[in-house]
Amino acid sequence: MTGSLRGGVDPYLPGIGDDGYAVDRYGLELDYRVSVNRLQGTAVIEAMALRELPRIRFDLSGLRASKVLVGSGASGDARADAASAQRARHSRTPHHLTVTPASPIAAGERFVVVVDYAGTPRSRRSTWGPVGWEELDDGVIVAAQPSGASTWFPCNDHPSDKARYEITVVTDAPYTVVANGRQVSNRAHGGRRTWHFVQDQPTSTYLATVQIGRYTSTKVDLDGVAGHLVYPPSIARGVKHDFRELDRMMALYQRLYGPYPFDGYTAIVTADELEIPLEAQGAAIFGANHAAGDDAWNRLIAHELAHQWFGNSVGVAAWEHIWLNEGFACYSEWLWSEERGGDSAEVCARRHYDGLAAQPEDIVVGSPGAADMFDDRVYKRGALALHALRGLLGDDAFFALLRDWCADNRYGSVSTVDFLHAASAAAGSAHGGAARQLLERWLFATELPPYPA
Ligand SMILES: [Zn+2]
Repeated sequence: MTGSLRGGVDPYLPGIGDDGYAVDRYGLELDYRVSVNRLQGTAVIEAMALRELPRIRFDLSGLRASKVLVGSGASGDARADAASAQRARHSRTPHHLTVTPASPIAAGERFVVVVDYAGTPRSRRSTWGPVGWEELDDGVIVAAQPSGASTWFPCNDHPSDKARYEITVVTDAPYTVVANGRQVSNRAHGGRRTWHFVQDQPTSTYLATVQIGRYTSTKVDLDGVAGHLVYPPSIARGVKHDFRELDRMMALYQRLYGPYPFDGYTAIVTADELEIPLEAQGAAIFGANHAAGDDAWNRLIAHELAHQWFGNSVGVAAWEHIWLNEGFACYSEWLWSEERGGDSAEVCARRHYDGLAAQPEDIVVGSPGAADMFDDRVYKRGALALHALRGLLGDDAFFALLRDWCADNRYGSVSTVDFLHAASAAAGSAHGGAARQLLERWLFATELPPYPA
């Protein structure tokens, strides 16, 4: 779904992403030296042209391509297609790799691009601070939302262009690697170790991840979902304590939103302190400060898990719709608070409403503008919009709407208008207009609506 990408760009990310093609799959073979922060990679990108492509533009920041091949993707066998690909001209700017195939690729044609590349990966500057690949004291995190995937692989860095991933990382043997999806293998060979992961479910570039550290891993059952806690052994006690309720969180969300959408869930806790936790596909990343053993971040452990349904499986068609990720994840915090015997969702809603009432009423939650897309009011007012809708629909219809939303849009990309349609349909002919009006006031007026009855 690239309907909101007129002109090839998301207005929130000018110059990033391209609507001329859609990627099916990224095959990434990476070799990384931790001590010198040196990354060498081969990316096999299988895609389809959505219009005629005399050139193919990828987002790639700071890293240098040494060889590029382009071939037909007609056989559908990536290895065979890559083997018959031909050398292609390419050029580079600080944040792009532009590839010129021998002849233009026709609209509707499948193609494969093989890129050998290398360099010293580092985060890139953005409106929201540095994003992407980041060295830790002793390892790596990738924190790519919204525009940092280009710091570690050539890509079409827009959330609506979801693809499957196969990621292989070779690195120094003492380090543990976590990437997206199922870990297929992990083998040592002379001082180094190769880690191999497959992510079969469509994944946005910003949710693709590699985490590297001196970690240990503990298996946990999360309401029938395979879970892993990955952390430095020195903080094991705090991690095991603070993440002990993940199982109940998973049970609550599976009951309310439907089956967990991925193969497993991994919570990575770094040795470094991090400002905020963040979600990745099938995973979330926390800092040591988020697992001190005092439950201080319980709320955000629940928030990141909820993103697996809202944001990761049901993704945004463009960044202006980010309240569909954050408002839903924030409302999930309140539902979890009630479930564990803390403040009810109603008490949380009232408290945050009072908080919003004390702040300037100058944000449009459904279209906040790039600079304010991570403004806390998008989260809290987005959650209040859902609470208000729940009041109108009643619990049965409201939670049926959320389950249908997750099922109907599984692995897809959605917009606010899609949710308005779904909500008014759920409200039925008698109340559809009221549901739409209510959401429009919460999402598209700057003025804070009265507290929902
Ligand atoms: Zn969030």
